[in-house]
Amino acid sequence: MTIRVGVFGAGGRMGSTVCRAVHDDPDLELVAAVDPHYSGLDLVTVTGVDAPIRVARDREALVAAGVQVAVDFTDRRACCANLGFLAANGVHAVVGTTGFDEDDLAGFREEFVSSNCVIAPNFAIGAVLMMHFAALAAPYFDSAEIIELHHENKVDAPSGTAMLTLQRMAEASGEWTPDPTTAEVVPGARGAAGPADIRVHSVRLRGLVAHQEVLLGTTGQTLSIRHDSIDRTSFMPGVLLAAKQVAERPGVTIGLDALLGL
Ligand code: NAP
Repeated sequence: MTIRVGVFGAGGRMGSTVCRAVHDDPDLELVAAVDPHYSGLDLVTVTGVDAPIRVARDREALVAAGVQVAVDFTDRRACCANLGFLAANGVHAVVGTTGFDEDDLAGFREEFVSSNCVIAPNFAIGAVLMMHFAALAAPYFDSAEIIELHHENKVDAPSGTAMLTLQRMAEASGEWTPDPTTAEVVPGARGAAGPADIRVHSVRLRGLVAHQEVLLGTTGQTLSIRHDSIDRTSFMPGVLLAAKQVAERPGVTIGLDALLGL
């Protein structure tokens, strides 16, 4: 039996890529698409995906279509409202939207009792491994900085991937050399201080997709761990995996690690 899937933000950069990936997967059936910006248009016009679906304005369309799993790549505000609706209607959620704070996540944990939610700030398998390797390396180094680089339209900074990497590294080691800077000639030159005061720098540049470099240093050596998503299809295997597994993951799962057995 196929899993009935709906997509929020179907007309967006990620949402349209998700529509194609779901449509092409024999285990999944794309049955609904929501995006107020494109409502009333046929999905094929908006995304090129040849499925007999009209893009809806309202979330109710997902329930009317009998959606079992909804995928959300929108923005923080829209996604918070979408997730409240999905939880209230017993629909599982797969979330790629970024920019949530701890209060948002605590709210989702309260809301998802009769259905489940997988939230991954990065669905690319290589990025999941990058975060895993960074946490493994953290206890063996004295200093670390993260540089994340994204396309020019990204609205949140630092990226969700950088925030999750910082959190994992801070959990793995609390012993980092303090920042030596006493004169910051241009404010912000040293980036932002994340968990455990590890510095993070956000680059926004036309031509990029999603990239991150974790730099670690100790006596006489450095280690660089870098991941590059050069195309949005890099995120799709992770999204499809989450859509297939979310029903078996009670409550809210953050990150793809558990789904990959890491
Ligand atoms: P985008 O191109 O702006 O797409 C977002 C789409 O969602 C837009 O079409 C937007 O319409 C629509 N939207 C807004 N509110 C909505 C609502 N209430 N219901 C349904 N659709 C709604 O952005 P993107 O580049 O695809 O990125 C989307 C999110 O995914 C961002 O948070 C980004 O950081 C994240 N992301 C995550 C991963 C990952 O692996 N987890 C990878 C890449 C990106 P309007 O234009 O009218 O606002």
